[in-house]
Amino acid sequence: MTRVIRDPAELREWVGASKRNRYSIGFVPTMGALHAGHRSLMARSWGENDRTVVSLYVNPLQFGPHEDFDRYPRAFESDLAMCTEAKVDVLFAPAVETMKPPGFATMVRVAGVTDTLEGARRPGHFDGVATIVTILFNAVQADRAYFGQKDFQQTVVVRRMVSDLRMPVQVVICPTMRDPDGLAMSSRNVYLTVADRPEALRLPRALDAAERAVAEGETDADAIRSVMAKAMESPRDDVRLDYAEVVHPDTLAPLTRIETHAALLAVLRVGKVRLLDNRVVAAPGVAAWKP
Ligand code: AMP
Repeated sequence: MTRVIRDPAELREWVGASKRNRYSIGFVPTMGALHAGHRSLMARSWGENDRTVVSLYVNPLQFGPHEDFDRYPRAFESDLAMCTEAKVDVLFAPAVETMKPPGFATMVRVAGVTDTLEGARRPGHFDGVATIVTILFNAVQADRAYFGQKDFQQTVVVRRMVSDLRMPVQVVICPTMRDPDGLAMSSRNVYLTVADRPEALRLPRALDAAERAVAEGETDADAIRSVMAKAMESPRDDVRLDYAEVVHPDTLAPLTRIETHAALLAVLRVGKVRLLDNRVVAAPGVAAWKP
């Protein structure tokens, strides 16, 4: 049974004991409402470390004032059951008051890679992410931390921060888990109605189409952007493309031409849900990209 720890002091004791035993620690930060995507991160950590810690914390710092913090899905009992099933040692589930006590005043900000894409549309979001990830890294002192490629820009931000601040943790990026129909798993998918589903599928299919175009030799980034945009056109006016971008996978700078690797990043709004997905592609003859 996974041990639930809510108190940072208790976590510190557990971490101290693990370190004295020279156990390696793998860490999977989450906001809960766990699904098979999270489960794949836990499995990877379990395979690569002596101990695994999952955190469950819906981080108010990374939600904008008009975003869904209050209605973000919460499912503690089934989350705990999944952790137990995945042989997770500790589920760290602190209260907001412990993580953000009165007087809390310090933020970690990664410049540059947070200015575009999600960062441009959700001001402050990545400051909230970088700050909470730093706090959690300090608490867990993991050897390895596991993140999903699903949130591509987040992986770029976290890797930049870990490198710049010399954080002693290895960041491991794991592939995106999908439902059988191709939709990337996400805790927010529970908001999709039955009628929304085929609309949502336009997103992974657009990425498939773009990937095919690249494989067939298209290197012009604008042409790839158009392939994606066209594939996401819908007769429903509440299905709207937020963006479809072709960027450098390390810097997130927009590309004009795909010479080696490119990250195709797209966000489609379906009703009230913003769906994110991405694909990293390589020009023909170029080896696959590795994070
Ligand atoms: P979240 O709970 O949404 O903050 O996600 C916690 C971690 O799980 C992040 O590193 C996500 O990128 C990762 N994750 C979310 N969805 C998926 C997915 N479909 N496949 C793989 N990893 C995922």
